[in-house]
Amino acid sequence: NLQSTKTLTNGIEMPRLGLGVYKMTEREETLQAIDKALKVGYRAIDTASLYGNEVEVGEAIRYSGVAREDIFVTTKVWNSDHGYDATLRAFEVSLKKLNLDYLDLYLTHWAVPETFEETYRAIQRLYDEKLIRATGVSNHHEHHLEKLLAKANIAPMVNQVEVHPYLQQDGLKAFCREHKIAVTAWSPLGRGGVLNDPAILEIAQEVGKTAAQVVLRWHLQNDTIIIPKSVTPSRIEENAQIFDFELTPVQMEKLHALNRNQRFGQDPDNFKFDF
Ligand code: NAD
Repeated sequence: NLQSTKTLTNGIEMPRLGLGVYKMTEREETLQAIDKALKVGYRAIDTASLYGNEVEVGEAIRYSGVAREDIFVTTKVWNSDHGYDATLRAFEVSLKKLNLDYLDLYLTHWAVPETFEETYRAIQRLYDEKLIRATGVSNHHEHHLEKLLAKANIAPMVNQVEVHPYLQQDGLKAFCREHKIAVTAWSPLGRGGVLNDPAILEIAQEVGKTAAQVVLRWHLQNDTIIIPKSVTPSRIEENAQIFDFELTPVQMEKLHALNRNQRFGQDPDNFKFDF
């Protein structure tokens, strides 16, 4: 069902579906999108300090009437704030903007080569201080995770990376499974870029669902957490109606065959850290 969760290593339940709010910069639009999502049953919001909408995310949560403890809130520390002290400061700013007492998950946004280990060390401290309920990172390859795992007192519980049918990340997903790191797919719909794929459209016809629903269901059946973004009320609802059908092993295999290691976003190893 819509409240389906993934249990993280520390026992915290993270909703398998959340609303991504990247590029929601218009105040009314953001408030209305989150309001709609919470009304149709979403219980997680994925934001970042970079997105510039933490104030609106906090407001939308408070005015929704849904209890704070029933909503899983994630935000991220932007690249220019990486390092131990800067991360602690950035967290305080985010918390203040969101106007919340704690966050459910705080992530390193990208693995800044010189500082990602220190950034994660600060995230561990926030966890120890009970300011966040789970630790995690984003855009970390295996080689980044290996470095963190070698030193961490608390292994990252989540890695949020680009995953969709054209970039399936089998190797990284296997590594994360082995180390009990939950995987969240960003751009789970490939920013909409996979939705006209003939194979996906064919499966959509077979199951009587939309291409977006098929792709999101495929993620769920792969044990991947998803945070699709939309500001369109009908699509926000559509993207949540994915718990009432199942793809067959043959359909799953057809989707698996679509991988072409194609990124719509940047490769964490080639990210332009221009600050
Ligand atoms: P997405 O794959 O969620 O695609 C969103 C786009 O797909 C929408 O703008 C819309 O054009 C289209 N769409 C959505 N639902 C649809 C539907 N039902 N039918 C047809 N088209 C539909 O891409 P995204 O916004 O890049 O990623 C989702 C979220 O992931 C972001 O909002 C953000 O929270 C997160 N994210 C994180 C990082 C990171 O570096 N950690 C990077 C990118 C995105």
